[in-house]
Amino acid sequence: MTTRVGITGAAGRMGKTLIEAIALAAGDLTLAAAIERPESSLVGADSGELAGQGRNGVPVVGALEEVIADIDVLIDFTVPDATTANVQTCVEHGVAIVIGTTGFTAPQQAVLDAAAAQIPMCKASNFSTGVNLCFKLLDMAARVLGDDVDIEVYEAHHRHKIDAPSGTALSMGQVVADALGRDLDKVAVYGREGQTGARDRETIGFATVRAGDIVGDHTVTFAADGERVEITHKASSRMSFARGAVRAAGWLKSADAGLYDMQDVLGLK
Ligand code: NAD
Repeated sequence: MTTRVGITGAAGRMGKTLIEAIALAAGDLTLAAAIERPESSLVGADSGELAGQGRNGVPVVGALEEVIADIDVLIDFTVPDATTANVQTCVEHGVAIVIGTTGFTAPQQAVLDAAAAQIPMCKASNFSTGVNLCFKLLDMAARVLGDDVDIEVYEAHHRHKIDAPSGTALSMGQVVADALGRDLDKVAVYGREGQTGARDRETIGFATVRAGDIVGDHTVTFAADGERVEITHKASSRMSFARGAVRAAGWLKSADAGLYDMQDVLGLK
């Protein structure tokens, strides 16, 4: 049976790419609803035309409640406040949700965790297949190189990104910290300035660049005396994230309630 997908943030950078990805996806997914902020001037526009795909007959609406009965899975790449509210609507209607939004506060994250006990939820800081493969490689590298290396995470994104470090960089740091039995909250160092003192081996450093139209670069460096290993991922198109999110939506349709990530969808666990 066809999976009917709704997209919140339909006029956003990811929203438009998701509309294109669903149009390109072979198989049994259809775009059933496109949602934007109620005050958006694009409410009423044809979502296919908005995404540069030609008319698809699915108008942009200004409230999720208007269309929630028409969808099986919601894909949400918006802002934390909106996603947190949308999750509650999905719980009320038993609709599964794919969450790509990043930058949640701890209380917002708690709301999502509670909702995942009631509906199938797939949340990932990065939906690209390549990044999820990198998570696996990082785990392996951290276990082999252990406490003999300094570990630094570098990320670069376009000038419009509003949170830092990126959710992907934090996930990379978390994978490494977990592999080494460290508490990321205690060992993370976010930027350095002034008299920092010598580096403590336990720390995991994060460096952020915001510039131009960079879609997303991430490098984790494992540096020892005499050699270093660097694991790098470079995204050149948002389509890599959109394809993964659409794949997750198809997978989630038949999943039980619970919190999943892209490693589950790709069978990497
Ligand atoms: P964007 O600003 O281009 O798009 C966000 C859209 O959400 C806007 O069109 C905005 O009007 C809309 N929106 C805001 N509130 C809304 C509401 N209440 N209802 C409906 N729509 C609403 O941003 P973007 O670059 O598309 O990124 C969106 C989010 O996705 C960010 O948090 C970003 O970090 C994240 N992201 C995640 C991945 C991933 O793979 N997980 C990849 C890229 C971006």
